Amino acid sequence: MALPRTDTVVSYPTGATDGTGTVLHIEPVGERFAVLLDATPCHPVDAGWPDQGSDRATLTWNGGSADIVDCIVAATDGSLLYLGGDIPVRKGTEGWTFVVAHLVTDAPPVGQVVTVEIDAKYRRSLSLGHTGCHLASLALNRAMTGRWSKEVRTDALGTPDFDAEANDTSRILERGSLDTYRLGKSLRKKGFSTEGIAEALPGIETEVNTTLADWVAENAPVRIDRDGDRLTDRRYWVCTLADGEARIACGGTHATGLGELGSLRATLTLEDADGTPVLTMRTAQD
Ligand SMILES: [Zn+2]
Repeated sequence: MALPRTDTVVSYPTGATDGTGTVLHIEPVGERFAVLLDATPCHPVDAGWPDQGSDRATLTWNGGSADIVDCIVAATDGSLLYLGGDIPVRKGTEGWTFVVAHLVTDAPPVGQVVTVEIDAKYRRSLSLGHTGCHLASLALNRAMTGRWSKEVRTDALGTPDFDAEANDTSRILERGSLDTYRLGKSLRKKGFSTEGIAEALPGIETEVNTTLADWVAENAPVRIDRDGDRLTDRRYWVCTLADGEARIACGGTHATGLGELGSLRATLTLEDADGTPVLTMRTAQD
């Protein structure tokens, strides 16, 4: 039952929705078990940046099967296994191995070859939602360009990166996404003007949706570039738009072309959270 010393090989970035793996370790976690495999197609939720949640999947082996009730990133120093938010180190820390933990209520024996089958329909709805989320962040950056008075980092298309500067939370939904942006003092200090933004919001929303409609109509291809096939290898969402090649670091799953997003639309709302304006962008593809 030795803990693995190499990061899990993951096939979900290529779009895989099934695959086989060998059970390397079983760890009891309360009334559940964390099953560690050498390879998996199952997308785990990352505690550090939990935008895309766990896949829904089933584990099958000779003589049994179990629903994967949760799939999370875990890490080990060789002696203990730490799950999700309990991981005490950053990815890439020397001496640490990062693995995909499949949580089940009934575990296969160590050494067993198992089949992992993903709920492909649910995965696809998240992949579409995730690509829509990236695209909407680029469109929002573009619509906010005129509000910057100082130089800030730019996004994948060379536009001031409002999303990177202000994003607070990001959630990938089925064929949708939900992002919040804090328009507080620190953002204003960086040169972002919030003046009259409530009144300007409908116009900003229209601009975002015009950009999104143009990009979806382009039907640009989307691909995932990766440095390797292991969980911690860096991966990028790459979309070749007429405006340029957008390249965003991302560990999620995605559509293969923008045409798949169909009726992608963003809705913007502004609320006040203890004196700080918070902008919410919700996207949906009906
Ligand atoms: Zn992403």
